[in-house]
Amino acid sequence: MTGHAALYRHAYVHVPFCSRRCSYCDFSIAVRRDVPSERFAASVGTEFGRRTRSAGLTDVETLYFGGGTPSKLGPAGVKGLISTLTEAGLRLAKGAEVTLEVNPEDVTAAAADSWREAGVNRLSMGVQSFSDAALAWMHRTHTAAASSEAFRTARAAGFADISVDLIYALPARLGRDWAADLQRAIELEPDHISVYGLTVEPRTPLGRWTARGTEVPQTDENAAEEFLAAHATLTGAGFEHYEVSSYARPGKRSRHNSAYWKRVPYIGLGPSAHSFDGSSRRWNVAAYALWEAALGAGSDGAGGTEDLDAGQHAAESLYLGLRTDIGAELALPANAARTARWVAEGWAARSGTHSGTHSGTHSGTRTRLTAEGWLRLDALVASLDPE
Ligand code: SF4
Repeated sequence: MTGHAALYRHAYVHVPFCSRRCSYCDFSIAVRRDVPSERFAASVGTEFGRRTRSAGLTDVETLYFGGGTPSKLGPAGVKGLISTLTEAGLRLAKGAEVTLEVNPEDVTAAAADSWREAGVNRLSMGVQSFSDAALAWMHRTHTAAASSEAFRTARAAGFADISVDLIYALPARLGRDWAADLQRAIELEPDHISVYGLTVEPRTPLGRWTARGTEVPQTDENAAEEFLAAHATLTGAGFEHYEVSSYARPGKRSRHNSAYWKRVPYIGLGPSAHSFDGSSRRWNVAAYALWEAALGAGSDGAGGTEDLDAGQHAAESLYLGLRTDIGAELALPANAARTARWVAEGWAARSGTHSGTHSGTHSGTRTRLTAEGWLRLDALVASLDPE
């Protein structure tokens, strides 16, 4: 996949650095006390330059720094990375959404000011819980008080768009009070909340504790209860539940993530980053040192590519549509019969659509999953015939 850069209106940069590995995390990270911010920015600039050399660039509407922990780049490091990308030819469209994932301990007044000056206008903060015992168990490097303080610091610096991440389905023995955590999050008045269920990945500390029997994961029933409690509490507080894990105040949905779910092309830079050009996927070399070495040796950092066939495109569209409140149009009679049952069970709702197209008007019925349906998302999608 090369030469399609003109299609990219969305860019992602994977910043792999973390100060230690969280107990549940199996992302591609590089644990570093001293983060090589300048060297990393130079490598990202090299990758971007090589991949976009032959193509005209469109101004990007969203730029997202994820990780890892991008805030570990520090106040100057984020600015340096954005300057490097700009010098390499990246241009931001007017009103572009520029998101930085941050951990609370990195959010100082000086850092927040510098990020704002650099063009960052949205923060996604890894809060996870307001229980210090749960945070220690997760190997997080911040306290509950630090999260609240970081949030207030970011607001005071002028960030009008702040998302917080929370994790549910923690082991019962931790005694974590999920309702209290949701309430504490709402009291901060964030613009967006992402709620993720803890999963046990084999190659993590949690995976090893579970295999040894020293940790017992939450039951599926309790995890489902917590998912539904989040839905009731957050929608009751005025948030729109617009994707399985995502809640937003009206007008505050993540434009970047929404582009993924709509299958709009995006370019992903940095170790392990994925890209999609509308017809094929590409993934970068995952390990930081290997990605950097590949760029040093003249490559563009690609670890592999895959051309999607028509069936894969259709299956992806269906899955991604159903995981959001956009839903999907299911026209096959067999699927219509299945979704009638979903509606009867309370797992889905149907609505008529009537939209103008270039060739006239188009009417159909969209199926949207409810929160109860999202609990069963994978099984429901697997039961459908390809549309
Ligand atoms: S901070 Fe995020 S990326 Fe880093 S180890 Fe923890 S969960 Fe993983």
